Amino acid sequence: MSRLLVIGCGGVASVAVHKCCQADDVFTDLMIASRTVSKCDALKAQLEGKTRTRITTAAVDADDPDAVSALIDSFRPDAVLNLALPYQDLSVMDACLARKVDYIDTANYECENTDDPEWRAAYEKRCREKGFTAYFDYSWQWAYREKYAAAGITGLLGSGFDPGVTGVFTAYALKHYFDTIDTIDILDCNGGDHGYPFATNFNPEINLREVSAAGSYWEDGKWVEVEPMSIKREYDFAGVGKKDMYLLHHEEIESLAANVPGVRRIRFFMTFGQSYLTHMKCLQNVGMLSTTPIEFEGRSIVPIQFLKALLPDPATLGPRTKGKTNIGCIFTGRKDGKDRSIYIYNVCDHQECYREVGSQAISYTTGVPAMIGAMLVVKKIWKGPGVFNVEEFDPDPFMDALNKYGLPWTVEENPVLVD
Ligand code: NDP
Repeated sequence: MSRLLVIGCGGVASVAVHKCCQADDVFTDLMIASRTVSKCDALKAQLEGKTRTRITTAAVDADDPDAVSALIDSFRPDAVLNLALPYQDLSVMDACLARKVDYIDTANYECENTDDPEWRAAYEKRCREKGFTAYFDYSWQWAYREKYAAAGITGLLGSGFDPGVTGVFTAYALKHYFDTIDTIDILDCNGGDHGYPFATNFNPEINLREVSAAGSYWEDGKWVEVEPMSIKREYDFAGVGKKDMYLLHHEEIESLAANVPGVRRIRFFMTFGQSYLTHMKCLQNVGMLSTTPIEFEGRSIVPIQFLKALLPDPATLGPRTKGKTNIGCIFTGRKDGKDRSIYIYNVCDHQECYREVGSQAISYTTGVPAMIGAMLVVKKIWKGPGVFNVEEFDPDPFMDALNKYGLPWTVEENPVLVD
């Protein structure tokens, strides 16, 4: 018996809400609150009659912590699952802190306005101190650790797939397969085809900001930063086949570097087709990926937000996308004095996801772990107090739930390694 407040009603939230409604013995009451309440009402209408979960909806501006606090006062949730954008992480965390309610999200904080002087000063200091230039990092949310601990509440960060399941795979590998982990390669392969010349699989603004940034990886206790898309490898993915993949900076590298004792190297690779890369390069060259506002016909617009308005809504890709995803981690390390390597991965089929919950696999592979994270928090199986990344908790109940709720995983011994 628990009450969950879900903030946001996009592609990921839609899957998470469907999955909460499948677990209606756990989530007896759900409020879906987002900027555009008509989307919440439409989702509620899809699910009514198919679940025992009681669903209510509300409009909220999650940039405003007072508005989120007022919603918490009216609904009285056991936890808040934040599936809006990374821009809203701190305001939702503030509201949870003010009302002493547990918090879960899937992506670490990013500042929407990168020209904000206070944010930029902190960002430049962090770039100097840490050595990577991505716009997002965990410092903002880890700064809530003591405040959450003092309030006796749990903050669970990054409970999507990557970050999320990749951290759980790491904790599972460390618990059951290794005494020490030496290297982690996270491989995110999307073999799906939506038939458009160019579209992103999740929020375009967040996706393009991530992909066009410099790549970086963790090695021998420090960050190594490289030109965007400058490290390319080919890998033969189970269920998908051979794909080119590129090294990216990714947020779980930062938390895994902090939480996996003695890890020597952590890299993240994502597959991209040539058409995607050519479009992205062109858009970048003409300034369309810029986050800096420009004046246009008497009003201020942010180029990447204008681009988002032109691109297909990721939530509409479901019926068109065919093929599979394969996301997982290759670990090397030592067990009982011997070298060992394993690959833990999940293969997910876009069309099967669509048939089950009306969404493509990218939203599905994020929405399912978001629900599982929320479930473990409301059931107090994962509990603080404090702010935690997923790999800090016992992975076993999460791994069991992945099998139960649609993301079964495979462990392969002696996989082909990435050079
Ligand atoms: P969408 O753009 O589809 O949905 C975002 C939702 O948030 C929309 O419903 C939007 O409302 C709502 N929203 C935006 N701003 C506000 C606000 N100020 N107040 C209230 N609601 C707001 O994004 P996705 O569903 O694709 O992604 C959701 C999250 O999941 C993102 O943070 C993304 O980074 C993360 N993610 C994580 C992954 C992982 O593996 N860890 C993978 C993929 C995504 P409106 O409908 O009005 O625009």
